[in-house]
Amino acid sequence: MKRITLLGGTGSIGLQTVDIIKRHPEQFQLVGFAFGTNIDKALPVIENLKPKYIVVQNRETFTKLNNKLSYSPTINFGMEALNEIVSLPDIDLVVNAVLGSVGLQPTLEAIRAKKQIAFANKETLVTAGHIVMKEAKENRVDLLPVDSEHAAIHQCLKGENHDEIKKIILTASGGSFRDKTRDQLIGVTKHDALKHPNWSMGAKITIDSATMMNKGLEVIEAHWLFDTPYDQIDVILHNESVIHSMVEFADQSVMAQLGTPDMRIPIQYALTYPERSDFTLSEALDLVKVGQLNFREMSFDRFPCLRMAYEAGRMGGSLPTVLNAANEEAVKLFLQDKITFLEIEELIEKEMETHSVIQDPDLDTIFELDQEIRKRVSYAVLKR
Ligand code: NDP
Ligand code: MG
Repeated sequence: MKRITLLGGTGSIGLQTVDIIKRHPEQFQLVGFAFGTNIDKALPVIENLKPKYIVVQNRETFTKLNNKLSYSPTINFGMEALNEIVSLPDIDLVVNAVLGSVGLQPTLEAIRAKKQIAFANKETLVTAGHIVMKEAKENRVDLLPVDSEHAAIHQCLKGENHDEIKKIILTASGGSFRDKTRDQLIGVTKHDALKHPNWSMGAKITIDSATMMNKGLEVIEAHWLFDTPYDQIDVILHNESVIHSMVEFADQSVMAQLGTPDMRIPIQYALTYPERSDFTLSEALDLVKVGQLNFREMSFDRFPCLRMAYEAGRMGGSLPTVLNAANEEAVKLFLQDKITFLEIEELIEKEMETHSVIQDPDLDTIFELDQEIRKRVSYAVLKR
């Protein structure tokens, strides 16, 4: 029995993780459950699976939730409580499905407590990959990828020799605006951007997919998870999201992992690893029905956010923290209708251009910089 703490339990990945846990009661027990403020989504899960520990984002949510429960779990709120719920002795596995760099501290706490981690929270690896991976290595903790591309690569690399990797090839669906030219992006709305052609996901990652920043964050995520230089990570466009990613080896053999675009498959892979369990929640891949798979070359001119992510990754130091914080803030502003779609990339580029890179930043530097960049981006918009 794996005893699980789930962070971000009311989100898109969080609720799909709950589906998997419910399907396999003999394998998993939800012991810890953390979310932000969405009580309506949290309550049915909590009443159904009765986690022993619950953490919410703030006091207000804490009070509201406390009055609604039919049993008496330990409830707490705030950042410190989030750090505690991942390191309790009666937890084996932490699913980190929280959104954004707020996931950094709990990730480090889970690593220090030597918990296995199923990892969806890519912003954490982007903002502080060098610190997270160093601590994971020292504590011999595996980060099991939930992101479909990284779960694919993880599977392609099973039993392989790391030195024989020639390149990792990440596939990108292209997001909501993949068939639009840059000129056609002028005036696109939040509503248009939130319509992803293949995946149903949270709002921020759906916007990140439309700007291609999601793939940029994934390039950095792959660099850290698989210890692979940026020159050996490629991105190609693949409309159908059937091939989730590939690895080319020294002998030019290419391994790919395929499947129906359903995030519950990689979530389950991370939860059951190193075993596999039956999956019956969606139809199996039928290649005859799919008929055709399409691929196109990626364009950095069409998708400048991907270019910026490669630049930040290659430069390293504090630049990926700047990229991530500026992107998180800009996407938030776009979702609040305060900036246009194309202004997202402009705001990020401006922060990256004006930043003096700090080499090997420590945690405090990263936390400070993360806050500073968010403030700068929102101020730049406010004062207009
Ligand atoms: P959602 O926006 O759907 O969910 C985010 C979750 O995080 C919610 O439960 C939210 O709580 C919680 N949360 C946000 N801020 C805080 C906070 N300060 N304290 C505590 N909890 C907080 O996001 P997704 O599920 O789409 O994405 C989660 C992560 O997984 C992201 O890093 C994303 O990049 C990654 N990912 C997502 C995929 C997908 O298909 N969705 C695919 C691959 C990776 P509440 O809503 O209750 O306030
Ligand atoms: Mg992905």
